[in-house]
Amino acid sequence: MYQALYRVWRPKTFSDMVGQEAIVRTLRHQVTTGRIAHAYLFCGSRGTGKTSAARILTRAINCLNPQNGDPCGECESCRTIENDASFDVYEMDAASNSRVEEIRELLEKVDYPPQFGKYKVYIIDEVHMLSNAAFNALLKTLEEPPEYMVFILATTEPQKLPSTILSRCQRYDFGRYTEDQIAGHLKKVVAESGEEAEEEALSLIARAAEGGMRDALSILDMCMGSGEKITEEHVRQALGTADRAFLFSYAEALAHRDGAEALRLTDELMRGGRDVQVFLKDLSAHLRMLMAALLCGPGEGLPGVSGENARRYAQQAKEFSQQRLLRVLDGCMHAEADTRWAASARSVLEIFALRACDQPEEKDVEALLERVAELERRLAELEKNGVRALPAAASQTAPKEQKPSGPVPRPVVETPVPAGSRPPKDVWNDALKYLKKAEPALYGPLSRAKYGGYQDGTFKAMFAPGEEIFQTMLAQPERRLKIESALNQAGGQEAKFEPVSQMVQQDPEAGARQEKNLSGLIEMFGRDKVQIDE
Ligand SMILES: [Zn+2]
Repeated sequence: MYQALYRVWRPKTFSDMVGQEAIVRTLRHQVTTGRIAHAYLFCGSRGTGKTSAARILTRAINCLNPQNGDPCGECESCRTIENDASFDVYEMDAASNSRVEEIRELLEKVDYPPQFGKYKVYIIDEVHMLSNAAFNALLKTLEEPPEYMVFILATTEPQKLPSTILSRCQRYDFGRYTEDQIAGHLKKVVAESGEEAEEEALSLIARAAEGGMRDALSILDMCMGSGEKITEEHVRQALGTADRAFLFSYAEALAHRDGAEALRLTDELMRGGRDVQVFLKDLSAHLRMLMAALLCGPGEGLPGVSGENARRYAQQAKEFSQQRLLRVLDGCMHAEADTRWAASARSVLEIFALRACDQPEEKDVEALLERVAELERRLAELEKNGVRALPAAASQTAPKEQKPSGPVPRPVVETPVPAGSRPPKDVWNDALKYLKKAEPALYGPLSRAKYGGYQDGTFKAMFAPGEEIFQTMLAQPERRLKIESALNQAGGQEAKFEPVSQMVQQDPEAGARQEKNLSGLIEMFGRDKVQIDE
């Protein structure tokens, strides 16, 4: 009989489990020392190993011959539980048995000690689905459980549990798997199944599974069994996503500002029956790859991409400026979100594509900003001389009192520096100068930030809205350490580095005011010169 991969590959011991090392270590320790809690709460999104861990723990604490905290799998207890034949272990899915009668029936049996093993174990999956009455019944038992009783509660939504239940459980949070962990595990599964797969194909599955091993194995299941080597194309077909060549063509059209070609490709996509939202997600991923290629340079490898493809990314990346690529990516991610409620997903894609092709070059924007600054200087001078010089349309609609517009910028905070030390701003500038030469790949994103102040030994870099991608990049521990060591060197003392976002709060009226400011700008420069950018 055919068995789904995720069943075949369900871990049988803690040693089999992928990731979740801290949790595994603690549970294993409890088994070896015999310090078993009465109630465990396993939290985490789907496919992160909660149920597997619950079953392993159940067998381990009842095993007659545990091996370093793992169940032996051979003793009578292990085999009985494995075959679902034990009267001491109950597994219940609260999603389908949420009523109080069902939980009461279960709890009535708590008073009977285990027939065979040391512990009686109740595993309640999706425990947040229980009714209030059911929770109250459960709570009574949790308050005074018999010595032999162990509850393992599992949930994807711990925030829905009553605090009275939470406070009586030992809580474990199961994190999502990283793409590397998933791809690594899939590689093992493929090899042991006697099949072959391209590295890229497995990376694509890992990305699509979004941290859930069970989903990853289900996708792999769909691609296996044809007797052929599993390719990226097989995976894309299974997932219904666009192939890489198509993504390259689409990005090419955007790079060349070829709106007609982008619309033609959109049409092709629609005739192929593809889902717009899925495509936009793929395109975002593609643009992020380009961004990574642009920022890291050709030397550094891209995650999950091999030689030839890495070269293609690097090549296409060169057709965008960093600024423009960021704006296109930003637009793409917004469009992806918009498809969720838009009546026509196709129009969302088309509007995004046309806007992306219509964006002015950054030098145009800079020139425009310079002109705005110049005009503002002149206006200020005129006003000093008592002349109201607002453009007619804007002055009619302008509010009497001018509140600060937009989100509030984060203030730059400085801690006083002990005498004899160098001013933090100098240290910062020196570190930047050093990084520019020594770590150009780091300097790139860092140069997008403004100096954000020095406080309690921490240097801050402030990123403007829309630049969050750089903030995220630099928050990564390895990059952070490099920047900190540059700051250490420049300042001659221990320094920390923290990338922060420039805006601290959103002003609800900012949007309306921005629109007014914008109409003022259009008034000043003419409509064709002003680009509206989300
Ligand atoms: Zn055993």
